[in-house]
Amino acid sequence: MSVLVTGGAGFIGSHTCVELLNSGYDVVVADNLCNSKPDVMDRIALICGKKPVFYQIDVCDCEALRCIFQQHQIDAVIHFAGLKAVGESCGIPLRYYRNNLDSTLSLLECMQEFGCKKIVFSSSATVYGPSNPSPYTEDMPVNTATNPYGWTKVFIEQILRDTAAADADFSAINLRYFNPIGAHESGLIGDDPDGIPNNLMPYIVRVAAGQLEKLTIFGDDYPTADGSCVRDYIHVVDLAKGHLKALEYANMNRGVEAFNLGTGNGSSVFELVEAFENANNLTVNRVIGARRDGDLPAVWADTQKAKEKLNWSAEKTVQEMCADSWNFVKKK
Ligand code: NAD
Ligand code: UDP
Repeated sequence: MSVLVTGGAGFIGSHTCVELLNSGYDVVVADNLCNSKPDVMDRIALICGKKPVFYQIDVCDCEALRCIFQQHQIDAVIHFAGLKAVGESCGIPLRYYRNNLDSTLSLLECMQEFGCKKIVFSSSATVYGPSNPSPYTEDMPVNTATNPYGWTKVFIEQILRDTAAADADFSAINLRYFNPIGAHESGLIGDDPDGIPNNLMPYIVRVAAGQLEKLTIFGDDYPTADGSCVRDYIHVVDLAKGHLKALEYANMNRGVEAFNLGTGNGSSVFELVEAFENANNLTVNRVIGARRDGDLPAVWADTQKAKEKLNWSAEKTVQEMCADSWNFVKKK
Protein backbone atom coordinates (compact mmCIF):
# COMPACT_ATOMS: atom_id res chain seq x y z
CA MET A 1 0.00 0.00 0.00
CA SER A 2 1.33 3.40 -1.02
CA VAL A 3 0.83 6.39 1.26
CA LEU A 4 1.41 10.03 0.37
CA VAL A 5 2.69 11.88 3.45
CA THR A 6 2.42 15.66 3.08
CA GLY A 7 4.72 17.49 5.49
CA GLY A 8 6.63 14.23 5.93
CA ALA A 9 9.95 16.01 6.57
CA GLY A 10 8.55 17.70 9.68
CA PHE A 11 8.59 16.63 13.32
CA ILE A 12 5.54 14.35 13.44
CA GLY A 13 5.64 13.46 9.74
CA SER A 14 9.20 12.13 9.87
CA HIS A 15 8.39 9.85 12.83
CA THR A 16 5.30 8.63 11.02
CA CYS A 17 7.37 7.87 7.89
CA VAL A 18 9.62 5.67 10.06
CA GLU A 19 6.66 3.71 11.42
CA LEU A 20 5.12 3.37 7.94
CA LEU A 21 8.35 2.14 6.34
CA ASN A 22 8.99 -0.26 9.22
CA SER A 23 5.49 -1.68 8.69
CA GLY A 24 6.03 -2.28 4.98
CA TYR A 25 4.17 0.68 3.46
CA ASP A 26 5.53 2.45 0.37
CA VAL A 27 5.99 6.07 1.39
CA VAL A 28 5.94 9.15 -0.82
CA VAL A 29 6.68 12.47 0.88
CA ALA A 30 5.61 15.91 -0.38
CA ASP A 31 7.14 18.79 1.58
CA ASN A 32 8.32 22.27 0.61
CA LEU A 33 10.82 22.29 3.52
CA CYS A 34 9.51 25.64 4.79
CA ASN A 35 9.91 24.31 8.34
CA SER A 36 12.19 21.28 7.94
CA LYS A 37 15.50 20.20 6.48
CA PRO A 38 16.29 17.99 3.48
CA ASP A 39 18.64 15.67 5.42
CA VAL A 40 15.63 14.30 7.34
CA MET A 41 15.05 11.81 4.48
CA ASP A 42 18.62 10.46 4.89
CA ARG A 43 18.10 10.18 8.63
CA ILE A 44 14.89 8.22 8.08
CA ALA A 45 16.88 5.92 5.78
CA LEU A 46 19.53 5.43 8.48
CA ILE A 47 16.81 4.33 10.93
CA CYS A 48 14.78 2.12 8.57
CA GLY A 49 17.23 1.03 5.88
CA LYS A 50 14.69 2.46 3.41
CA LYS A 51 14.07 5.96 2.17
CA PRO A 52 10.75 7.57 1.26
CA VAL A 53 10.38 8.87 -2.28
CA PHE A 54 10.74 12.62 -1.75
CA TYR A 55 9.23 15.53 -3.69
CA GLN A 56 10.08 19.08 -2.68
CA ILE A 57 6.81 20.73 -3.66
CA ASP A 58 4.28 23.11 -2.19
CA VAL A 59 1.12 21.14 -1.50
CA CYS A 60 -0.92 24.19 -2.54
CA ASP A 61 0.44 23.62 -6.06
CA CYS A 62 -2.16 21.44 -7.82
CA GLU A 63 0.02 20.77 -10.86
CA ALA A 64 2.93 19.54 -8.75
CA LEU A 65 0.56 17.32 -6.78
CA ARG A 66 -0.95 15.93 -9.98
CA CYS A 67 2.55 14.86 -11.11
CA ILE A 68 2.93 12.83 -7.92
CA PHE A 69 -0.45 11.16 -8.37
CA GLN A 70 0.45 10.40 -12.00
CA GLN A 71 3.78 8.82 -10.99
CA HIS A 72 2.45 6.79 -8.05
CA GLN A 73 -0.68 4.79 -7.31
CA ILE A 74 -1.50 6.58 -4.04
CA ASP A 75 -3.87 4.53 -1.87
CA ALA A 76 -4.15 6.94 1.06
CA VAL A 77 -2.88 10.31 2.24
CA ILE A 78 -1.66 11.49 5.63
CA HIS A 79 -1.83 15.27 5.62
CA PHE A 80 0.65 16.91 8.01
CA ALA A 81 1.67 19.88 5.83
CA GLY A 82 0.73 23.13 7.47
CA LEU A 83 1.99 26.10 9.43
CA LYS A 84 1.61 25.54 13.15
CA ALA A 85 2.74 28.45 15.34
CA VAL A 86 -0.21 29.86 17.29
CA GLY A 87 1.40 33.25 18.08
CA GLU A 88 2.70 33.73 14.54
CA SER A 89 -0.74 32.95 13.13
CA CYS A 90 -2.17 35.98 14.98
CA GLY A 91 0.39 38.25 13.27
CA ILE A 92 0.10 36.81 9.74
CA PRO A 93 -3.38 35.22 9.65
CA LEU A 94 -3.79 35.36 5.87
CA ARG A 95 -0.59 33.40 5.33
CA TYR A 96 -1.94 30.72 7.70
CA TYR A 97 -5.35 30.57 6.02
CA ARG A 98 -3.80 30.56 2.53
CA ASN A 99 -1.25 27.86 3.30
CA ASN A 100 -3.30 25.52 5.48
CA LEU A 101 -6.59 25.77 3.61
CA ASP A 102 -5.20 25.91 0.04
CA SER A 103 -2.93 22.93 0.62
CA THR A 104 -5.90 20.91 1.88
CA LEU A 105 -8.19 21.96 -0.98
CA SER A 106 -5.55 21.22 -3.63
CA LEU A 107 -4.90 17.87 -2.06
CA LEU A 108 -8.58 16.92 -1.85
CA GLU A 109 -9.21 17.98 -5.45
CA CYS A 110 -6.27 15.93 -6.62
CA MET A 111 -7.38 12.94 -4.56
CA GLN A 112 -10.83 13.23 -6.12
CA GLU A 113 -9.38 13.41 -9.63
CA PHE A 114 -7.28 10.28 -9.08
CA GLY A 115 -9.89 8.34 -7.12
CA CYS A 116 -7.97 8.33 -3.82
CA LYS A 117 -10.57 8.09 -1.06
CA LYS A 118 -8.72 7.92 2.24
CA ILE A 119 -7.19 10.73 4.24
CA VAL A 120 -5.83 11.06 7.75
CA PHE A 121 -5.58 14.68 8.86
CA SER A 122 -3.42 16.33 11.55
CA SER A 123 -5.96 18.19 13.60
CA SER A 124 -5.37 19.47 17.10
CA ALA A 125 -6.84 19.59 20.58
CA THR A 126 -7.10 23.33 19.91
CA VAL A 127 -10.39 22.66 18.07
CA TYR A 128 -12.05 22.07 21.46
CA GLY A 129 -11.66 25.82 22.11
CA PRO A 130 -11.97 27.58 25.46
CA SER A 131 -15.47 26.44 26.49
CA ASN A 132 -15.20 22.65 26.75
CA PRO A 133 -13.91 21.20 30.03
CA SER A 134 -11.08 18.60 30.13
CA PRO A 135 -10.95 15.72 29.58
CA TYR A 136 -12.06 16.42 26.02
CA THR A 137 -14.25 13.84 24.33
CA GLU A 138 -14.64 13.67 20.56
CA ASP A 139 -18.37 14.40 20.70
CA MET A 140 -17.87 17.86 22.24
CA PRO A 141 -18.66 20.86 20.00
CA VAL A 142 -15.64 21.95 17.96
CA ASN A 143 -16.85 25.13 16.32
CA THR A 144 -14.75 27.79 18.04
CA ALA A 145 -11.06 28.55 18.08
CA THR A 146 -9.05 31.30 19.74
CA ASN A 147 -6.50 32.04 16.99
CA PRO A 148 -6.16 31.76 13.18
CA TYR A 149 -4.09 28.57 13.41
CA GLY A 150 -6.86 26.92 15.43
CA TRP A 151 -9.50 28.16 13.00
CA THR A 152 -7.66 26.49 10.10
CA LYS A 153 -8.03 23.18 11.96
CA VAL A 154 -11.75 23.82 12.67
CA PHE A 155 -12.34 24.72 9.00
CA ILE A 156 -10.39 21.77 7.60
CA GLU A 157 -12.26 19.34 9.84
CA GLN A 158 -15.48 20.81 8.41
CA ILE A 159 -14.18 20.57 4.83
CA LEU A 160 -13.47 16.89 5.45
CA ARG A 161 -16.93 16.31 6.94
CA ASP A 162 -18.52 17.96 3.87
CA THR A 163 -16.34 15.96 1.47
CA ALA A 164 -17.28 12.72 3.18
CA ALA A 165 -20.98 13.68 3.19
CA ALA A 166 -20.84 14.16 -0.59
CA ASP A 167 -19.09 10.87 -1.37
CA ALA A 168 -20.22 7.65 0.28
CA ASP A 169 -16.88 5.97 -0.54
CA PHE A 170 -14.76 8.66 1.12
CA SER A 171 -13.03 8.07 4.39
CA ALA A 172 -11.50 10.84 6.54
CA ILE A 173 -9.98 10.69 9.99
CA ASN A 174 -9.42 13.86 12.02
CA LEU A 175 -6.69 13.10 14.53
CA ARG A 176 -6.73 15.61 17.36
CA TYR A 177 -3.22 15.69 18.78
CA PHE A 178 -2.49 16.82 22.30
CA ASN A 179 1.14 17.89 23.05
CA PRO A 180 3.69 15.80 21.13
CA ILE A 181 7.23 15.83 22.55
CA GLY A 182 10.11 13.31 22.65
CA ALA A 183 12.04 12.03 19.67
CA HIS A 184 12.99 8.77 17.98
CA GLU A 185 15.18 6.67 20.29
CA SER A 186 18.01 6.79 17.73
CA GLY A 187 18.33 10.54 18.30
CA LEU A 188 18.41 11.00 14.52
CA ILE A 189 15.07 12.78 14.15
CA GLY A 190 13.19 15.06 16.51
CA ASP A 191 11.73 18.51 17.00
CA ASP A 192 14.18 21.04 15.57
CA PRO A 193 12.52 24.46 15.32
CA ASP A 194 14.34 27.43 13.76
CA GLY A 195 14.92 30.43 16.01
CA ILE A 196 13.62 30.76 19.56
CA PRO A 197 11.12 27.97 20.26
CA ASN A 198 7.53 28.74 21.21
CA ASN A 199 6.75 25.35 22.68
CA LEU A 200 7.75 24.22 26.13
CA MET A 201 9.91 21.13 25.48
CA PRO A 202 12.09 22.64 22.71
CA TYR A 203 12.62 25.61 25.03
CA ILE A 204 13.58 23.39 27.98
CA VAL A 205 16.16 21.46 25.95
CA ARG A 206 17.79 24.65 24.67
CA VAL A 207 18.10 25.99 28.20
CA ALA A 208 19.58 22.66 29.29
CA ALA A 209 22.03 22.82 26.36
CA GLY A 210 23.10 26.34 27.38
CA GLN A 211 21.74 27.86 24.15
CA LEU A 212 19.14 29.88 26.02
CA GLU A 213 19.65 31.40 29.45
CA LYS A 214 16.47 30.46 31.28
CA LEU A 215 12.97 29.13 30.89
CA THR A 216 10.11 31.46 31.78
CA ILE A 217 7.20 29.57 33.27
CA PHE A 218 4.13 31.36 31.98
CA GLY A 219 2.11 31.81 35.15
CA ASP A 220 1.92 30.06 38.53
CA ASP A 221 -1.50 31.38 39.53
CA TYR A 222 -3.77 29.13 37.46
CA PRO A 223 -6.50 27.12 39.20
CA THR A 224 -4.40 23.91 39.02
CA ALA A 225 -2.69 21.88 41.78
CA ASP A 226 0.63 23.78 41.55
CA GLY A 227 -0.60 26.91 39.76
CA SER A 228 1.03 26.20 36.37
CA CYS A 229 -0.81 25.04 33.23
CA VAL A 230 -1.54 21.36 32.70
CA ARG A 231 -1.13 19.65 29.32
CA ASP A 232 -1.36 16.10 27.99
CA TYR A 233 2.18 15.42 26.69
CA ILE A 234 2.47 12.46 24.33
CA HIS A 235 5.59 10.78 22.91
CA VAL A 236 5.86 11.50 19.19
CA VAL A 237 6.54 7.81 18.44
CA ASP A 238 3.26 6.83 20.13
CA LEU A 239 1.55 9.56 18.14
CA ALA A 240 3.12 8.30 14.90
CA LYS A 241 1.86 4.78 15.64
CA GLY A 242 -1.63 6.19 16.06
CA HIS A 243 -1.53 7.21 12.39
CA LEU A 244 -1.02 3.62 11.27
CA LYS A 245 -4.03 2.58 13.33
CA ALA A 246 -6.02 5.42 11.78
CA LEU A 247 -5.01 4.26 8.29
CA GLU A 248 -6.20 0.75 9.10
CA TYR A 249 -9.47 2.20 10.37
CA ALA A 250 -9.90 4.29 7.20
CA ASN A 251 -9.34 1.15 5.15
CA MET A 252 -12.16 -0.67 6.93
CA ASN A 253 -14.68 2.17 7.34
CA ARG A 254 -16.28 4.94 5.30
CA GLY A 255 -17.32 8.42 6.42
CA VAL A 256 -15.60 10.77 8.82
CA GLU A 257 -14.40 10.11 12.34
CA ALA A 258 -12.41 12.13 14.91
CA PHE A 259 -10.00 10.65 17.45
CA ASN A 260 -8.04 12.18 20.29
CA LEU A 261 -4.38 11.17 20.37
CA GLY A 262 -3.19 11.88 23.89
CA THR A 263 -2.24 9.86 26.96
CA GLY A 264 -5.22 10.88 29.06
CA ASN A 265 -2.86 12.23 31.75
CA GLY A 266 -2.02 15.83 32.44
CA SER A 267 1.36 17.20 33.60
CA SER A 268 1.90 20.73 34.83
CA VAL A 269 4.75 22.92 33.56
CA PHE A 270 6.53 22.47 36.91
CA GLU A 271 6.07 18.69 36.70
CA LEU A 272 7.42 18.50 33.16
CA VAL A 273 10.51 20.56 34.03
CA GLU A 274 11.17 18.39 37.09
CA ALA A 275 10.65 15.18 35.09
CA PHE A 276 13.17 16.48 32.53
CA GLU A 277 15.72 17.26 35.25
CA ASN A 278 15.28 13.85 36.88
CA ALA A 279 15.34 11.87 33.63
CA ASN A 280 18.55 13.56 32.49
CA ASN A 281 20.22 14.39 35.78
CA LEU A 282 20.63 18.10 35.12
CA THR A 283 19.17 21.45 36.14
CA VAL A 284 17.06 23.81 34.05
CA ASN A 285 17.29 27.51 34.98
CA ARG A 286 13.82 28.95 35.26
CA VAL A 287 11.87 31.95 36.46
CA ILE A 288 8.18 32.50 36.96
CA GLY A 289 6.74 34.97 34.48
CA ALA A 290 3.36 36.37 33.50
CA ARG A 291 0.65 34.26 31.93
CA ARG A 292 0.83 33.90 28.12
CA ASP A 293 -2.23 35.27 26.30
CA GLY A 294 -4.66 32.60 25.23
CA ASP A 295 -3.31 29.73 27.39
CA LEU A 296 -5.97 27.49 28.91
CA PRO A 297 -5.36 26.27 32.48
CA ALA A 298 -5.79 22.54 31.86
CA VAL A 299 -6.04 20.45 28.70
CA TRP A 300 -6.05 16.68 28.51
CA ALA A 301 -7.68 13.97 26.45
CA ASP A 302 -10.30 11.37 27.02
CA THR A 303 -8.64 8.45 25.22
CA GLN A 304 -11.44 5.88 25.37
CA LYS A 305 -12.58 6.21 21.77
CA ALA A 306 -9.10 5.69 20.30
CA LYS A 307 -8.62 2.71 22.62
CA GLU A 308 -11.89 1.08 21.60
CA LYS A 309 -12.11 1.88 17.89
CA LEU A 310 -8.45 2.15 16.85
CA ASN A 311 -7.07 -0.33 19.35
CA TRP A 312 -4.42 2.29 20.11
CA SER A 313 -3.17 3.84 23.30
CA ALA A 314 -0.01 5.72 24.20
CA GLU A 315 2.62 3.61 25.95
CA LYS A 316 5.61 5.80 26.68
CA THR A 317 6.07 7.64 29.96
CA VAL A 318 6.86 11.30 30.56
CA GLN A 319 10.34 10.15 31.70
CA GLU A 320 10.94 8.53 28.31
CA MET A 321 9.66 11.63 26.51
CA CYS A 322 12.12 13.79 28.47
CA ALA A 323 15.06 11.41 27.95
CA ASP A 324 14.43 11.10 24.20
CA SER A 325 13.99 14.87 23.72
CA TRP A 326 17.38 15.42 25.36
CA ASN A 327 19.06 12.56 23.50
CA PHE A 328 18.06 14.15 20.17
CA VAL A 329 19.50 17.54 21.10
CA LYS A 330 22.72 16.01 22.51
CA LYS A 331 23.31 14.07 19.29
CA LYS A 332 22.67 16.98 16.93
P1 NAD B 1 6.37 20.69 11.32
O1 NAD B 1 6.39 22.14 11.00
O2 NAD B 1 7.58 20.08 11.91
O3 NAD B 1 5.96 19.86 10.02
C1 NAD B 1 5.11 20.37 9.03
C2 NAD B 1 5.79 20.15 7.68
O4 NAD B 1 4.93 20.65 6.67
C3 NAD B 1 7.13 20.89 7.55
O5 NAD B 1 8.11 19.98 7.13
C4 NAD B 1 6.86 21.96 6.51
O6 NAD B 1 8.00 22.21 5.73
C5 NAD B 1 5.73 21.35 5.71
N1 NAD B 1 4.82 22.28 5.04
C6 NAD B 1 4.12 23.32 5.56
N2 NAD B 1 3.37 23.90 4.62
C7 NAD B 1 3.58 23.21 3.46
C8 NAD B 1 3.10 23.33 2.14
N3 NAD B 1 2.23 24.28 1.78
N4 NAD B 1 3.54 22.43 1.22
C9 NAD B 1 4.43 21.48 1.55
N5 NAD B 1 4.93 21.32 2.78
C10 NAD B 1 4.50 22.18 3.73
O7 NAD B 1 5.10 20.45 12.24
P2 NAD B 1 4.68 19.17 13.09
O8 NAD B 1 4.85 19.47 14.52
O9 NAD B 1 5.29 17.95 12.51
O10 NAD B 1 3.12 19.19 12.79
C11 NAD B 1 2.54 18.45 11.72
C12 NAD B 1 1.06 18.76 11.66
O11 NAD B 1 0.48 18.45 12.93
C13 NAD B 1 0.73 20.22 11.39
O12 NAD B 1 -0.41 20.28 10.54
C14 NAD B 1 0.39 20.76 12.75
O13 NAD B 1 -0.51 21.85 12.69
C15 NAD B 1 -0.25 19.56 13.40
N6 NAD B 1 -0.17 19.59 14.88
C16 NAD B 1 1.05 19.71 15.48
C17 NAD B 1 1.13 19.78 16.87
C18 NAD B 1 2.45 19.95 17.56
O14 NAD B 1 2.47 20.30 18.74
N7 NAD B 1 3.57 19.70 16.93
C19 NAD B 1 -0.05 19.71 17.63
C20 NAD B 1 -1.26 19.60 16.98
C21 NAD B 1 -1.32 19.52 15.59
N1 UDP C 1 5.09 27.29 28.51
C1 UDP C 1 5.91 27.95 29.42
N2 UDP C 1 7.06 28.52 28.96
C2 UDP C 1 7.45 28.45 27.67
C3 UDP C 1 6.63 27.75 26.75
C4 UDP C 1 5.45 27.19 27.22
O1 UDP C 1 5.59 28.03 30.60
O2 UDP C 1 8.51 29.00 27.31
C5 UDP C 1 3.85 26.67 28.98
C6 UDP C 1 2.61 27.21 28.29
O3 UDP C 1 2.08 28.29 29.02
C7 UDP C 1 1.67 26.00 28.32
C8 UDP C 1 2.61 24.79 28.32
O4 UDP C 1 3.91 25.30 28.66
O5 UDP C 1 0.98 25.98 29.53
C9 UDP C 1 2.69 24.10 26.96
O6 UDP C 1 2.94 25.11 25.99
P1 UDP C 1 3.19 24.76 24.47
O7 UDP C 1 3.36 26.04 23.74
O8 UDP C 1 4.30 23.75 24.37
O9 UDP C 1 1.86 24.00 24.03
P2 UDP C 1 0.34 24.51 23.96
O10 UDP C 1 0.27 25.89 24.51
O11 UDP C 1 0.01 24.46 22.52
O12 UDP C 1 -0.45 23.53 24.74
